Amino acid sequence: MDMGHIGATAGGGVGRLALTDLDRQARDLFVRWCQEAGCTIRIDRMGNIFARRAGSENDRPPVMTGSHLDTQPLGGKFDGIYGVLAGLEIVRTLNDAAVRTRTPIDVVNWTDEEGVRFGSGTLASAVFSGLCELDDALARTDLDGNTFASELEHIGYAGTEPVGGYPVAAFFEAHIEQGPILEAEGKTIGVVLGAQGQRCFKVTVEGEEGHAGTLPMERRRDALVAAARMIDTLNAIAFRYEPHPVITVGAIKVRPNSRNTIPGQVVFSIDSRHPDNDLLAAIAEDMQQSCGRIAKDMQLALTFEQISERATNIFDDRCIASIRNAAERLGISHRDVYSGAGHDACNLTHYAPTGMIFVPCENGISHNEKENARPEDLAAGCDVLLHVILEHAGVV
Ligand SMILES: [Zn+2]
Repeated sequence: MDMGHIGATAGGGVGRLALTDLDRQARDLFVRWCQEAGCTIRIDRMGNIFARRAGSENDRPPVMTGSHLDTQPLGGKFDGIYGVLAGLEIVRTLNDAAVRTRTPIDVVNWTDEEGVRFGSGTLASAVFSGLCELDDALARTDLDGNTFASELEHIGYAGTEPVGGYPVAAFFEAHIEQGPILEAEGKTIGVVLGAQGQRCFKVTVEGEEGHAGTLPMERRRDALVAAARMIDTLNAIAFRYEPHPVITVGAIKVRPNSRNTIPGQVVFSIDSRHPDNDLLAAIAEDMQQSCGRIAKDMQLALTFEQISERATNIFDDRCIASIRNAAERLGISHRDVYSGAGHDACNLTHYAPTGMIFVPCENGISHNEKENARPEDLAAGCDVLLHVILEHAGVV
């Protein structure tokens, strides 16, 4: 709740974009809390902050946990922040109980998870995991032309440590579910098996412009009417597969976008996601053929282009099992889930054995000022995270 004051919005949420003065204040507070808990701080060239609680054998690879402190413009107090502060809570708990671990524990704040300003989410963990070049990331610009590097410099978090390149024993991220499943089923812990795959498309429908008053209906080649039929069909396709994929048309551009001209061209986006990569490919084929049939019936030209593809991320078997076992041992209800959203942990699967713990959030609402979670659920997630970390870090 103290962290939530930094960038608090009128609607009860948080607006704390990455690499702004508010982000700096949140980082400063996190660093102060970690130092008060006896941690040493390292900051790498992407501004990722690592707060280390030393173990008894400090040349061993650390067990790492954390998430992100940045938010959407109208975001909530919990998305990301929970995972960072859950890590801090574990450090404090180990201090209180005078427990010493064998390997060090690193609590991490990944820079710019949300990707609001610089166009690409989970950017700093992508560089850490070797999925994106450091120089490319630092050269990215926001809409005002400021570079990532200069904004990092501006808030005083352009660190000197190399980004990644050293072994990590395991990475765990605790996060609110951002969906309604756990709450609906009355389960407290989501054991995340992986994050679903995603394919995005750009669809261009070419018709012909004409006068809205003079061209008879039967002679029109209206690209927007065709696009409307396609969008309705795409929505219906999602219900034809079990379990349902999610299919979203969220952006649309009409040319010339004039009240009294028949639309000659429409470009729209498709975002499709499913945990099964083969099914996702079959759905893509289905979507393309269905749109193609509509275009043909209406004598319009169609371009159906895939613009991005991300395969399903599968988390590490041993990490998944230790999360499930910890919940079981603690008598906390749990179920296996897939993540609908992307997370820093998805990048980390390419770097170290990785696992993720979900806790319920109210009505499944996230990326929204109303985002909320119950203290007892957040505490249960911390408990599971603590036990998982102790298992991997070893108790002296
Ligand atoms: Zn998040």
